[in-house]
Amino acid sequence: MTTHTPQRIALFGATGSIGTSALDVIARHPERFSVDTLAAGSNVTALLKLCERFKPQVAVIADEKQFASLKQGLQDLGLSTRAEAGDAALRARAAASEVDTVIAAIVGAAGLTSTLAAARAGKRLLLANKESLVLAGELLMQAAQASGATLVPVDSEHNAIFQCMPADGETRTVKRIILTASGGPFRGRTRAALSDITPAQAIAHPNWSMGAKISVDSATLMNKGLEVIEAHHLFAMPASRIAVVVHPQSIVHSMVEYEDGSTLAQLGRPDMRTTLAVGLAWPDRVNSGVEGLDWTQHNKLEFEAPDLETFPALQLAFDAMAAGGTAPAMLNALNEIAVSAFLQAQCSFLGIPALVAAGLDALESGPATSLDALLAADQRARAFGAEYLRKH
Ligand code: NAD
Ligand code: MG
Repeated sequence: MTTHTPQRIALFGATGSIGTSALDVIARHPERFSVDTLAAGSNVTALLKLCERFKPQVAVIADEKQFASLKQGLQDLGLSTRAEAGDAALRARAAASEVDTVIAAIVGAAGLTSTLAAARAGKRLLLANKESLVLAGELLMQAAQASGATLVPVDSEHNAIFQCMPADGETRTVKRIILTASGGPFRGRTRAALSDITPAQAIAHPNWSMGAKISVDSATLMNKGLEVIEAHHLFAMPASRIAVVVHPQSIVHSMVEYEDGSTLAQLGRPDMRTTLAVGLAWPDRVNSGVEGLDWTQHNKLEFEAPDLETFPALQLAFDAMAAGGTAPAMLNALNEIAVSAFLQAQCSFLGIPALVAAGLDALESGPATSLDALLAADQRARAFGAEYLRKH
């Protein structure tokens, strides 16, 4: 038997859906994994509960106004966990020498700077925060390559492709990658039938239990659009070698097609603990708490083409990727604004792709040469989105 020095983990987005799944896997293997840092956006109560259970060295709350309450809460619990706050604290923790592995599970562009810090610092980086790749894919991939960071995608499709790719990363014999999409809760409906969709309906995903933002993205198919851009960066694939197929059962998590006609697929239950276990232990395998498939129950696997007319968001993402430069960053920011407005009943469901399309039409995209240029494009798109919502 081999003994391991436990991998010291910083978990950003600890209180979320991915964070919860990650902690479930981590807790199964105390000899392998130890929690160094737990971080959340603004929910101190939820973060304190996790600190009580996992006793991290450091707890970070992104919202600086909550620092005093986090600090007091840790003291009241009699914990020696150090309280920190703000994005700078997240970036510092991502690069800290006490941390081996960073799980990037913050939702949205807010996750970019800490993810980038982990990539630059050469950590093992489990990437759930797909928005950071959409916003700054080139910079992030360059940073990871330059530092020698081990980047393991934990988005289920990309994790599947990661597992099906040649072990040496050589993609010459790969003809194309095929991302599967569940189709979301409104698969099979017409556009007209989507005019009065409520947030509760959009969040009720048929197969996966996830945070609110990604659930809405799955319902509009923008999630698959973001994932196409994510795959383009992760696997250095041009758009012409990335296909999307709707697979309502969410059992085949994605596929890699080779030159010789072989297609390799990764299959499993729709449970993110599998992908997190792959990321945590790779190239080893550990128990994730997820059972294998029951072939008498999972006995029907269907595939169909996506409906781009009802779900224009997927095409918008392909278009933004083709435009290149800062266009994907703007696509992402416009979508974040639209989804947030939809969740607050300030935008209709069909208004989400409408806002994104209007923004991409109106705004000039420029070269994505620096982080500043990308963040400026992100800000311009957010300002456009806010103005659009005022007018509509
Ligand atoms: P969630 O809403 O459940 O959790 C989000 C987490 O981010 C929370 O811990 C929250 O406190 C934290 N957070 C929010 N705003 C923040 C800020 N400004 N600064 C710091 N922290 C902040 O979301 P989720 O479903 O866990 O998704 C997280 C990321 O993983 C997203 O990028 C999503 O696209 C991706 N992802 C999720 C799933 C899934 O099954 N949930 C699958 C694939 C990819
Ligand atoms: Mg996914």
